[in-house]
Amino acid sequence: MSRIVFATGNADKMKEIRMILADMGMEILSMKEAGVCADIVEDGSTFEENAMIKAKEIAKLLPDDIVLADDSGLEIDYLNKEPGVYSARYMGEDTSYDIKNRNLIERLDGVPKEQRSARFVCAIAAVLPDGTTRATRGTIEGYIGWEPAGENGFGYDPIFYVDEFGCSTAQLSPEEKNKVSHRGNALRAMREELSRK
Ligand code: IMP
Repeated sequence: MSRIVFATGNADKMKEIRMILADMGMEILSMKEAGVCADIVEDGSTFEENAMIKAKEIAKLLPDDIVLADDSGLEIDYLNKEPGVYSARYMGEDTSYDIKNRNLIERLDGVPKEQRSARFVCAIAAVLPDGTTRATRGTIEGYIGWEPAGENGFGYDPIFYVDEFGCSTAQLSPEEKNKVSHRGNALRAMREELSRK
């Protein structure tokens, strides 16, 4: 039976991945569970490039498995799509999201709602045992609010508001967020891709 190995060390991501890929009838493992570890430099200029860099590196170590990797981030239109692929590194990797979020809100000072549009983007790359690759992208559209709100989620969730819900993604339960999130959408698209092979 083929195994799917996801190149992440993040337990929350693994939970979501297992939920969404559950019905594929394949064993789903994290990198650690597959017994590999790697420190990969993500120096691509797009989410897709970074996801593919990770997937290809891990696939070298696990040539018999389907290897998946993701890369994600926040694009704010008014800021020329910043922080983009630098989302984790914005203002420094060790700077708290309280500070990063306040800084982004300040940079949008006086900007009206119509110009505060933003999206979370997630790219997922796959390397198959035959060496072929696949890539999918998922997004969720929203806007940057005027105040951080909510305790759920992580990262930029407290400042990312979705009109449909009338709140930030940090105010949604994990189940509600997964149903509409960029990562959920990219994973569901990848599930379709892989079941077509
Ligand atoms: P990575 O793909 O796990 O490396 O995530 C990159 C960065 O994008 C994270 O560190 C967060 O700053 C941001 N990000 C990605 N997805 C989300 C999300 O669902 N909520 C909030 N921030 C996110």
